[in-house]
Amino acid sequence: MKSNSQPIKVLYVMGCSRCGSTILDSIMGAHPDAIGLGELEKYPAVRDSLNDYCGCGVLVQECPFWEEVCARWMQQVNGTLAEFESLARRYCRLRQLPRLLVVGEQKSIRFRRYSEYICAMFQTVAQVSGASIFIDSSKNPARALALRRVKGIDIRLLHLVRDPRGVAASLLKSWARDPAAGIQSDLEGRPARQAAKAWNLSGRLSDLVGRCYAPKTCMRIQYESILNNTAESIRSIGHLLNVDYTDVGLSVASGEAVEIGHVVAGNRLRMLGSTSLKTKDNWPEVLGDDDRRMVERICGRRMHKYGYGLT
Ligand SMILES: [Zn+2]
Repeated sequence: MKSNSQPIKVLYVMGCSRCGSTILDSIMGAHPDAIGLGELEKYPAVRDSLNDYCGCGVLVQECPFWEEVCARWMQQVNGTLAEFESLARRYCRLRQLPRLLVVGEQKSIRFRRYSEYICAMFQTVAQVSGASIFIDSSKNPARALALRRVKGIDIRLLHLVRDPRGVAASLLKSWARDPAAGIQSDLEGRPARQAAKAWNLSGRLSDLVGRCYAPKTCMRIQYESILNNTAESIRSIGHLLNVDYTDVGLSVASGEAVEIGHVVAGNRLRMLGSTSLKTKDNWPEVLGDDDRRMVERICGRRMHKYGYGLT
């Protein structure tokens, strides 16, 4: 069991939608001392839903792991999920991002209460799971900034970027509602122009938040580098955490599947029980020439910054 006085080690994965965070969450959670928790910020919202399943295969509200965590968590803070949600809305909505850039906000009574909730949540996950490293792939830059301000958390920020042409190709496809397969509602495909603009905005906000972290505590990595240079990429993320991920990296690189645990929210991959890393992104076969050119026109400058070449 983890002592309350030890800093809580968190890897926070920040990025845009369809950036590959769900598979990375499970890969980093495969270390014996770690646990992948998925899009943790959505936990209070999905806990009472009849549509949202945990990665272990049952509704989140029926998952014994999360029920025990939630009961201990609320007892430790003498609070309610409603109070926590209200605080999280104040600090984790994108439009609230400037609030946390203001010096002094983190000293407010409300932020101190938010911090109590956050620390207690990770502490209770540690108690129930035995893990000492927590993977939170909520992706949201505002939450990354809020957690950075919470005392008692040793947070490392990973900005996961994916080629916007891959993101656009992934978002083009529509999905029919299938909650047990991890799709909570009908998902309409999104036009490439919309995907490109969202990618740009996410990159801009993520870069802004990244500058609030000390250089040693954050890094940016391409999803494609995880696909193409797996062992070294996973090891370098381990370095960010000061944890040896060599064995995990070699195992994933060799094609071995990783188990998916009690991952909440995230994409449909989390419902597969286990998954392995695919070997390449298939956007060149999916994205038409017109859409590709549009994405490159909208995202070109930032693509260059992140190391992506234009075709
Ligand atoms: Zn579960």
